[in-house]
Amino acid sequence: MNFATRLDNVETSAIRELFKLLGKPGIISFAGGFPDSAMFDVEGLREASQRALQEEPGGALQYGATEGYEPLRTQLAAFERAKGVTDIEPHNLIVTTGSQQALDLLGKTMISEGDKVIVEGPTFLATIQCFRLYGADLVSAPIDAHGVQVDRLEQLIVQHKPKFVYLIPTFGNPSGALLSLERRRKILELAVKHQVLIVEDDPYGDLYFGEPPPPSMLALSREVPGSREWIAHCGSMSKVLSPGLRVGWLVAQPELLAKATMCKQFSDAHTSTFAQATAAQYLKSGRMPETLRNVRQKYGERASVMAEALTKELGDAIEFTAPEGGLFFWARLTAPGANAGEFAKRAIEQNVAFVPGAPFFAKDPDPATFRLSFATADVEKIREGAKRLGRAL
Ligand code: PMP
Repeated sequence: MNFATRLDNVETSAIRELFKLLGKPGIISFAGGFPDSAMFDVEGLREASQRALQEEPGGALQYGATEGYEPLRTQLAAFERAKGVTDIEPHNLIVTTGSQQALDLLGKTMISEGDKVIVEGPTFLATIQCFRLYGADLVSAPIDAHGVQVDRLEQLIVQHKPKFVYLIPTFGNPSGALLSLERRRKILELAVKHQVLIVEDDPYGDLYFGEPPPPSMLALSREVPGSREWIAHCGSMSKVLSPGLRVGWLVAQPELLAKATMCKQFSDAHTSTFAQATAAQYLKSGRMPETLRNVRQKYGERASVMAEALTKELGDAIEFTAPEGGLFFWARLTAPGANAGEFAKRAIEQNVAFVPGAPFFAKDPDPATFRLSFATADVEKIREGAKRLGRAL
């Protein structure tokens, strides 16, 4: 088959290969990126889908507007307003088929072959693949426990004049890192100073375990004059409600939103109206605050058990910062020359799985890093999994 040359830039991920091994019986997996199916509010979603069919069957089953189902846009604007984006209106966002589609639409509308795009090192693997598909030349900006390093980011912006900067400021995948309030402000100032678009990917911001994180960069842009037009914000129902619904959204300035809408029209015409009507009814039902409390509490408990168990079983052999939200621990083997890919193979022999960190870097991978998800294992499994990791060292 003579495939399009754009595919030359992209490989299927090393992680997919690893996932093939996960069918092994008895394995404890810290490898996935899924939320826990046991936490889905099935009853609430059943009621919401029934109400969607009863109250507006035409809307829920017919073709719909590319921008999204209006009652859902209204609910999502209210959801964002409650999180400090006080000036948002329904027409400032479009509904997308997962936030993944928002990223794809940003790639499609912004990236020409050879354009530079700055991403965090490490960053979300599917974004790396997606932007490369559009021909992006990715530049990797280093992070620490407080997110991307702003001084380095500014140097890279000046040096590479990127089309945009892609960040996951709140409990990043895979880093778990939380960008500090001070850095958020500075980055918004950089956006204005250098006239560069910042893409804020935020599927995990609602999944905090203790104190709420700083406001999203979208919310904060109100305080930095001129910065709103340089922010594109991707939201998602996936990690808090259900990824199978495929409901995400994109907030951006009108011109960019119009181009993204045009591209979406050629792509899937619109996000499933049934899913959108269900999500709208769900948000309207008022169950969301309780659902959020529930997932925060459960994931928070798992995260703290994982922090304790890793410290107990692996001690100084690894370093990590316990995340304050999200689904992931990002860790690093401390032995000189250590390779997390080799560690992953030994771990599978011990019936425990995780994902090596190298594929999450667009450039200059750190082979000693790896990602552990605590989302789908209960606390007993987390403790047992950590013991097995200790044996695999
Ligand atoms: N961005 C990040 C950082 C993610 O981790 C994910 C899901 N793993 C997505 C976007 C896509 O999520 P969805 O399309 O389900 O909204």
